[in-house]
Amino acid sequence: MSDTPKRSWAEPFKIKMVEPLKMTTREERKKALQEAGYNTFLLRSEDVYIDLLTDSGTNAMSDYQWAGMMLGDEAYAGSKNFYNLENAVQKFYGYKYLVPTHQGRGAEHIISKILIKPGDFVPGNMYFTTTRAHQELAGGNFVDVIIDEAHDPTSLHPFKGNVDLDKVESLIKKVGAKKIPYISIAVTVNMAGGQPVSMENIRAVSKLCRSHGIKVILDATRAVENAYYIKTREKGFEDRTVAQILHEMCSYTDGCTMSGKKDLMVNIGGFLAINDWDVFEEARNMVVLFEGLHTYGGLAGRDLEAMARGIEEAVQYDHIRARIGQVEYVGEKLKALGIPIVQPTGGHAIFLDARKFLPHLKQDQFPAQTLAAELYLESGIRAMERGIVSAGRNKDTGEHYYPKLELVRLTFPRRVYTQAHCDVTVEAVEATFEARNQMKGLKMVYEPKYLRFFQARFEPLA
Ligand SMILES: *Cc1c(COP(=O)(O)O)cnc(C)c1O
Repeated sequence: MSDTPKRSWAEPFKIKMVEPLKMTTREERKKALQEAGYNTFLLRSEDVYIDLLTDSGTNAMSDYQWAGMMLGDEAYAGSKNFYNLENAVQKFYGYKYLVPTHQGRGAEHIISKILIKPGDFVPGNMYFTTTRAHQELAGGNFVDVIIDEAHDPTSLHPFKGNVDLDKVESLIKKVGAKKIPYISIAVTVNMAGGQPVSMENIRAVSKLCRSHGIKVILDATRAVENAYYIKTREKGFEDRTVAQILHEMCSYTDGCTMSGKKDLMVNIGGFLAINDWDVFEEARNMVVLFEGLHTYGGLAGRDLEAMARGIEEAVQYDHIRARIGQVEYVGEKLKALGIPIVQPTGGHAIFLDARKFLPHLKQDQFPAQTLAAELYLESGIRAMERGIVSAGRNKDTGEHYYPKLELVRLTFPRRVYTQAHCDVTVEAVEATFEARNQMKGLKMVYEPKYLRFFQARFEPLA
């Protein structure tokens, strides 16, 4: 580990292959935006200049991962790449049993179906879209137990992803531990702005839940980023490696769901890992129905290999420092310009505070959706809404959820963009900020039934 905190972060790689970027005119972008119903998810990638929609599956693989792709063992059953992945998960995450899935939601689907009975309650540190959707499809009720600071974009709490133990205890009192099959802890918390959870908190949640027979399931999607924050922010962890911290975090939990498309820098892949044999057996049965045989889970052998190698690379200190350093770099520049963002900046993204950006818009005029559309129009940069559209509707009353946070997420794929791209992004956000008073909001003209933010369509308000 080359630990050189005095020097600034720099990409710990050089570029071997390039993919040209396309510039468009404002006229072209205007047309593209109309065709996309003012939803950045419906834009064609070809019409995008810098793509900050998501860090999911958009990362650059290393030469070591690409070399692994050529070693794919495409046997239907028992591929050697499955065993390589199983070894890596056992070594770095520490769980006993592995079920690969095509991506994170495949694992969420399976664990929700196995553990949740209709009418159960599933606490979590803020919801994540697909996680909650699968809990609800299985008949569960999601209960948010994150600390209040997480809902305040200006709170500088170093671990804004923490679980509020009082909220968990009062839920147990109210509904009884028997109605709570597990708590789902996300590290880091995507919807709160990529905010981490402290080791102390994970330990305490685990102790409380286990004393009531409630399982702890980690959403380990960005657990490596979380481990880096523990190393740099939590007392007593300065001298531990990211890999050691990751292993300890997982040791307080009973299993995890994982989207390999984030931390593990693959274009597709995920897994469910679990310590309990009975749950594993059930999951291994179910994966055959929904994903594929339990040694490939909907993935090609080469994808399993790339993910196994991604696990080794993700915990390298130089890598994770540069990854988070890049996001911090953009955050510092925006703050210096007085642009309202969620603080502290999170691991994978900068979140613009659309409420403060566009205070003249009501929440049902979709301020964050508006801002994402305007940023694209201005610059060709694609971001995404994380506000009322993403929050969806209450499944019982049919009303919009009105989340406190109304954000636009600028998400940085790992190892893809340079510091100059970061500078251009800052300039574009600044130009959008200067034009903010002219923005008029949107109305929703098409609303899909599930995860509406992906496919909803909008029109400008006159
Ligand atoms: C992306 C994500 C998921 C879902 O994973 P997919 O691979 O997109 O299915 C779950 N939880 C969190 C925190 C995520 O960011």
